[in-house]
Amino acid sequence: MPMYITPAYQPDEKRYERMQYQRTGRSGLLLPRISLGLWHNFGGVDSFENGRAILRKAFDLGVTHFDLANNYGPPYGSAEETFGKAFQKDLKPFRDEMVISSKAGWDMWPGPYGDHGSRKYLMASLDQSLRRMGLDYVDIFYHHRPDPETPLEETMGALADIVRSGKALYAGISSYEPERTEKAADLLAERYVPLLIHQPVYSMFNRHVEAGLLSTLETRGIGCIVFSPLAQGLLTDRYLAGIPGDSRAARPQAYLGAGDVTPAVVEKVRKLNDLAKSRGQSMAQMAIAWVLRQPAVTSALVGASSPRQIEDTVHCLDRLDFGADELGLIDSILAG
Ligand code: NDP
Repeated sequence: MPMYITPAYQPDEKRYERMQYQRTGRSGLLLPRISLGLWHNFGGVDSFENGRAILRKAFDLGVTHFDLANNYGPPYGSAEETFGKAFQKDLKPFRDEMVISSKAGWDMWPGPYGDHGSRKYLMASLDQSLRRMGLDYVDIFYHHRPDPETPLEETMGALADIVRSGKALYAGISSYEPERTEKAADLLAERYVPLLIHQPVYSMFNRHVEAGLLSTLETRGIGCIVFSPLAQGLLTDRYLAGIPGDSRAARPQAYLGAGDVTPAVVEKVRKLNDLAKSRGQSMAQMAIAWVLRQPAVTSALVGASSPRQIEDTVHCLDRLDFGADELGLIDSILAG
């Protein structure tokens, strides 16, 4: 009987023709304008083959950056395991074409050493993440959230030592306010490790970074990758006709609930969707183009529950420009 061997994954040869890449702050690292996050849809509760297909599609589209954290799942750690399995099957030959990140900072394991910002937690967590993903190093390692109880010197000292150890190539922080960001950058610089990147939330529905963080990042030459730019799916056409059974808002273990899909939100998205249509875009495409209009924003960090979604999102690159009238209309719809 002949032996059948599953053909190895061959990425699209044209993958670097469509994607655009931007320098991360004043560093040498180029990131794709669209990066893929594995917070949802890659856990132990999700279909492995669907997650694998999303990763392959993303890489085919020139998405070279994949963002994880120790506690993505559920259960905690399982998104890194899913990624590790898919990496082993498909992407391993392309490791040097990929930028893979992980983080520690939120609750991960029981007891006093599995949360917040201690050196003990960050060092142990990164070792666990590397084991789960089957990697020798991550490209970017983040402190996932500010921890007012731990001296910033300790957290940044741990990040600097992690970079020096080679277990991460670059250091990042997430959800730090501007003042703490400046201090973190100074502490890392004292240790001869630049702060590569900041990961804040930013979307049409959450514009807090416009109040100071974006200008801080630009001035300091720190890159910026914005998470949940689709407001977890609210800024798409997903909820225009109710809450689909397979959507995030319908899932029991999500941070988006049916209560977030209010008539006022849907009404705004309906108006924004009309504008998107007039631009020849899907709602998701316009929402991503809108965050990318900020010069400080290096990359939009999106999620996807299907290969089709990441494909749709990446096509936002066909139209990134906005007229002043369009930006004014968006502001008035959001304020309405
Ligand atoms: P998004 O705002 O991009 O939401 C993604 C969701 O939007 C998808 O799951 C899908 O919803 C829907 N969607 C995506 N593309 C389309 C499309 N083209 N058309 C219609 N619907 C679409 O981001 P996430 O909230 O998923 O966050 C992205 C990443 O950011 C995370 O994976 C993680 O890496 C990072 N993150 C970081 C945080 C931090 O503290 N640093 C916190 C949160 C996220 P559906 O599932 O309903 O189909």
